Amino acid sequence: MLPNFAYFEGKIVPYSQAKVGVATHAFNYGTGAFGGIRAYWNEDEEQLFLFRPADHFKRFLNSSRLLLMDLGVTIEDLTQITIDLLRTEGLKQNMYVRPLAYKADELIGVRLHDLRDAFTIFAIPFEQYIKHDTNAHITFSSWRRVDDNMIPARGKITGTYINSAFIKTDASKAGFDEALVLNADGHISEGSAMNFFMIRDGELLTPPITDNILEGITRRTVIELAEAELGIKVHERSIDRTEVYLADEIFLTGTAAQITAVGMIDHRPIGNGMGPITGQIRTLFADIVRGKVKKYRHWNHPVF
Ligand code: PMP
Repeated sequence: MLPNFAYFEGKIVPYSQAKVGVATHAFNYGTGAFGGIRAYWNEDEEQLFLFRPADHFKRFLNSSRLLLMDLGVTIEDLTQITIDLLRTEGLKQNMYVRPLAYKADELIGVRLHDLRDAFTIFAIPFEQYIKHDTNAHITFSSWRRVDDNMIPARGKITGTYINSAFIKTDASKAGFDEALVLNADGHISEGSAMNFFMIRDGELLTPPITDNILEGITRRTVIELAEAELGIKVHERSIDRTEVYLADEIFLTGTAAQITAVGMIDHRPIGNGMGPITGQIRTLFADIVRGKVKKYRHWNHPVF
């Protein structure tokens, strides 16, 4: 489904008018940075809640900074534009918002400097991303994750997603729902577009931000909830491949993937389907993003 509108060159326009030329730098060289934010419809309150927009836009501006961009807007400006856009779309259902910053000059020449920066935002209705999100079967990708000294993995840089696309397509074509990708040193980094968590002996493990992961907002949310609400100890440390085979529970986190439970890795069962801790985190997360938990209402930004 296409959006009806987009924020483009400083104003909200019909989607059909939000167009760039084929010589656009970002289209040719992958010099863009983007974000992905969900807005959840709360039926009882008849309200649409953006989830943690300030954190998402902070990362968006940081990703654009890595590309030497100056968008000339604040986190508050971006949040307000998104609210205006969602009101203009006017849909009362779960939405996905895509901010995209890009090198907008139409010219030949690989570089980051001396180029015009622009950004656009659009939104579409969005539900489930991973089909089997209560019992996913995943594998280890034969690809390696881009290293921080190649392309910054901590930034959401458009060109980097070629790496993710290879990982995802190979996994899909081999019949898996997703794949984990290793760093050059053999430690787990993440999935194609989601962070990795495993539970072993009652403790939660996830790779640190120095292991070429995207610094996920859902990841940060889960770490906070696991400690504060479930009293679980969280370790951010490098994880070996065979530790994953011995996990009691595995789940993947992301704005699109939400909390995806993993039931099998490389044909090896993990627990008996969705584990108890994963189940608790999933339920809590689903309530929090819809604004149903008072303590975390500061993460919910109303649209209407
Ligand atoms: N890793 C990658 C590579 C991603 O693209 C995403 C999705 N943005 C994530 C992790 C999860 O990040 P977040 O929870 O902020 O959506």
